[in-house]
Amino acid sequence: MPNMRRSHDGLGYVNLGRTTLRTFGIALTALALGAIGLAGPGQAQDKGTVGVAMPTKSSARWIDDGNNMVKVLKEKGYNVDLQYAEDDIPNQLAQIENMITKGSKVLVIAAIDGTTLSDALQQAADKGIKVIAYDRLIRNSKNVDYYATFDNFQVGVLQGGYIEKALGLKEGKGPFNIELFGGSPDDNNAYFFYNGAMSVLEPYIKSGKLKVQSGQMGMDKVSTLRWDGAVAQSRMDNLLSAYYTDKRVDAVLSPYDGLSIGIISSLKGVGYGTPKQPMPIITGQDAEVPSVKSILAKEQTQTVFKDTRELAKVAANMVDATLSGKTPEVNDTKTYENGVKVVPSYLLKPISVDASNWKEVLVGSGYYKENQIQ
Ligand code: BGC
Repeated sequence: MPNMRRSHDGLGYVNLGRTTLRTFGIALTALALGAIGLAGPGQAQDKGTVGVAMPTKSSARWIDDGNNMVKVLKEKGYNVDLQYAEDDIPNQLAQIENMITKGSKVLVIAAIDGTTLSDALQQAADKGIKVIAYDRLIRNSKNVDYYATFDNFQVGVLQGGYIEKALGLKEGKGPFNIELFGGSPDDNNAYFFYNGAMSVLEPYIKSGKLKVQSGQMGMDKVSTLRWDGAVAQSRMDNLLSAYYTDKRVDAVLSPYDGLSIGIISSLKGVGYGTPKQPMPIITGQDAEVPSVKSILAKEQTQTVFKDTRELAKVAANMVDATLSGKTPEVNDTKTYENGVKVVPSYLLKPISVDASNWKEVLVGSGYYKENQIQ
């Protein structure tokens, strides 16, 4: 977890550097100062409310994203209406409509299904409310003003590149058996992850150095609806029993830690994870605590760290610039075509993490405390 563990409503917990203290006294004093117009940094100057729509609390990264957004936006003087939709599309739509009705000035949305929000976003545009797509691109709408995300293609390149290096493919080793998993087909990111990974892996599949024994390739065959680990687990069960009773699977491309955990359970079920039958190379994404622990236990091999504190900063800067009549900073105006227009984007850099660098990257950056991991 990042340093900000519980932001709630600003009362009760205050984040002082990396120490979270329960300090009603400080909060009350700050409120009193705010009331007489002397609010210091971190206290609301009431610049209005920002609606933040997050997909689900079932994955720690989104909880971190929400907490970080609340923290940074409050520091900038905004109120935050933060909602989670538990991966239910109508629920998220209703939450967004409610934010519009209640007068949010900007919407920051991490969509569950990036293609289903067009009508709500038209309502927002009609009221002059700007929309920032958060982490996931919102598709098929002209009313998406900016996009804050990571370099999603590069995430896939890091995953595919890790497999390439771990198996020694560049050095001509092989053939090896690999199975491929994709993310949710309604999440634009899933295609970027898959295509990024395949940009590295496909030449080896073509040359025969990597064999997909199931033959299942392409997002239409390997995607995992709603990023559901249980779905990945049962698909892996089926792959193992249909294609690997007399063969070893050497690598599994997994785009997300929650899927990797399901895939690992399946592999353990048929005897992988022993000195005689070690785990295949298994990638992941998000550097979630269970997966970092799994890496240290030599089960999962790699993950991709995306610093949600940085993403929250970028998105909050976009909010602030938009509302101050400035142009938000972007660094990509070509990549993210949403079906209607190219959405100006700011892309952050993802980092590959494995047993060799987890401490430096995850603890060194203050994202986790070492005792959360081991
Ligand atoms: C995010 C990933 C995450 C996945 C599942 C994607 O849109 O970019 O970081 O692993 O959703 O939550």
